[in-house]
Amino acid sequence: MFRRGRRPVRPIVRPIVRPIVRPVVRAVVAPPPGRPMMAGQQNVPPALRRANELMAAGQYAGAAEIFEQFARGAQVRGGPRAPQFFLQAGRCRILAGQVPAGMVLLKQGLSILAGRGDWPHLQNASQRTVAELNQRGLVAEAAEIEAYLQQAIPGGFAPAGPAAGVAQPRLLPTNCPDCGGPLRADEVEWTDEYTAVCQFCGSAVRAE
Ligand SMILES: [Zn+2]
Repeated sequence: MFRRGRRPVRPIVRPIVRPIVRPVVRAVVAPPPGRPMMAGQQNVPPALRRANELMAAGQYAGAAEIFEQFARGAQVRGGPRAPQFFLQAGRCRILAGQVPAGMVLLKQGLSILAGRGDWPHLQNASQRTVAELNQRGLVAEAAEIEAYLQQAIPGGFAPAGPAAGVAQPRLLPTNCPDCGGPLRADEVEWTDEYTAVCQFCGSAVRAE
């Protein structure tokens, strides 16, 4: 006997619209954007580890092939580590005695750094490349790289000088614990005073 004479019963039963309850999505435990994964947390491609193993074992041609694949893949994706892979592939070709192929790869790595305007890394990579070529008696090739850099770097190529980027280089492990790639204080990215980022796999490595 409710509603008698007053409110007419509505013929249409309206569906009860409930607000959609979204499931609570918990953030996957990951470093904040821009912060790399610490060593040991990173999924390193086995091929990259293999390339570093081959290089350490002196099997340079095999290592070069893998680094080249990584370089081309990174280049297509516009990946930040493409130059390092080209430089490493070039270094391996040179060590394997395949000098012309190595030179092409080295220049490719350097030209990507130049194209990005990444002068500190270009300067460091160039100095190292020139020094290594000279060490191997490839004087003409070293001069060729120097000549290339003279026109690529504004203000010219400085063949010597303190490493750019790090005021006080910390002591890093010789090799990345994740991928086995060589770590050099003047070439890696530093996220803070004690944390370097492996330039091959992106793992964060603690320095002392
Ligand atoms: Zn690594």
